[in-house]
Amino acid sequence: MIPAALVLLSFLRMDAQSGRVLERQWQDDSPMHPGSLAKPFIALAYAQSHQFRFPEIRCARCWLPRGHGTIGPREAIAQSCNTYFDTLRAALGPGELDAVARRFGLRGVDEARPEELLRAYIELSRRAAEPGVNVILEGMRLAARSGTAKRVGHDALAKTGTAPCMHVPKAAGDGFVVVLYPAVQPRVAVLLRLHGRPGSYAAAEASRLLQ
Ligand SMILES: [Zn+2]
Repeated sequence: MIPAALVLLSFLRMDAQSGRVLERQWQDDSPMHPGSLAKPFIALAYAQSHQFRFPEIRCARCWLPRGHGTIGPREAIAQSCNTYFDTLRAALGPGELDAVARRFGLRGVDEARPEELLRAYIELSRRAAEPGVNVILEGMRLAARSGTAKRVGHDALAKTGTAPCMHVPKAAGDGFVVVLYPAVQPRVAVLLRLHGRPGSYAAAEASRLLQ
């Protein structure tokens, strides 16, 4: 018997219009650390408390050792710049981030169940007309086009992440991706986790689940 802990790929596929779960290959629904998948909600919390204006920030060092250079919100989402979102998060008052998280059905941005997290992204895509949201969605489209999620290979809205591995034996990290497809009025939403690989690889795996 193969131990349950050795399943390498988990995913959840939803109808982005109705919110119905179409397919689930996720062993448990226990809360996980969303890692970089929290960044769009950090961006929105920042926007709400700063007149919906995003800064440009100089990133000299990041997960990309040479840094991302001077970077604005769209590129920061597309390239998943840690410096950018650490700076935004540090500028938030107590409770501001939690308030945004709760509005999207999350208990917080540092812990979320897989289904809640995917629903939060579907909700984000539905609120394109709200202040601050469109910039974030543009960043996600850029992520799928030329950023960390480009291996998704479709015109989609996407965000990658890497989070501490929850498996045994433990890997350096698990890659995550959220993909909403197509980019305009998405029909399908996928959350995928790939054991021991970066989020860019998770994006490639998700591309097969978009129909
Ligand atoms: Zn950076």
